[in-house]
Amino acid sequence: MVNQKNSNELYSMHQVLLEFYGSLHWWPGESSLEIMVGAILTQNTNWQNVSKAIEKMKEEGLLEVTALFHMDEKSLGKIIKSCGYYNLKARRLKNFINFFYRNYGGSVERLFSVDWKILREELLKINGIGPETADSILLYAGNKPIFVVDAYTRRIFHRHNYFSFKASYQEIQHFFMVHLPQDHSVYNEFHAQLVMLGKDFCNKNNPLCSQCPLSPFLNKKTSHS
Ligand code: SF4
Repeated sequence: MVNQKNSNELYSMHQVLLEFYGSLHWWPGESSLEIMVGAILTQNTNWQNVSKAIEKMKEEGLLEVTALFHMDEKSLGKIIKSCGYYNLKARRLKNFINFFYRNYGGSVERLFSVDWKILREELLKINGIGPETADSILLYAGNKPIFVVDAYTRRIFHRHNYFSFKASYQEIQHFFMVHLPQDHSVYNEFHAQLVMLGKDFCNKNNPLCSQCPLSPFLNKKTSHS
């Protein structure tokens, strides 16, 4: 159920962060394919390592669906070594590319012409694609109106008393999607802001609340939604 106070507060946070960071223009990537590849490679690693792997793929002419489809998994693993868990990620990337090539002929336009809720179900059936990766692909490569929940989102909103640590991905996502305008550009920008905030201020062990732009919102909320 929509709670107007929560809607207002979330939107105010988003505006405060917009003023603080400006427009963040996420996700880094020159094409939808590059964004989708990045979303898979970024699991459990930092973006710097992913960036190196993507550069190497570009050098090898591998940011192209047909080339990736024909590339063997082991050789792909060696190329993306910098992003960690490279054998596993090569398999996951191949799983996605096989799905994309076989079902949509590698066409980004065809992929995203499908109803996004149906496409989300299809993506979640691919071995190695979980909700955060599927939603990052839909939001950032496809401009679909779905909110991405990550560890930063959880941490920040747990500290602001919105959720318990046990709250499910779906529960948190639903909260944002009913309390924010259903607009992919708002979801895009807000998620990017939360990642920046998590890195700059809301550290795992030592949150820098006194310097954080969201400090005026601390302790305002006393119960879970
Ligand atoms: S005010 Fe503190 S708890 Fe809230 S986001 Fe900033 S650092 Fe995290």
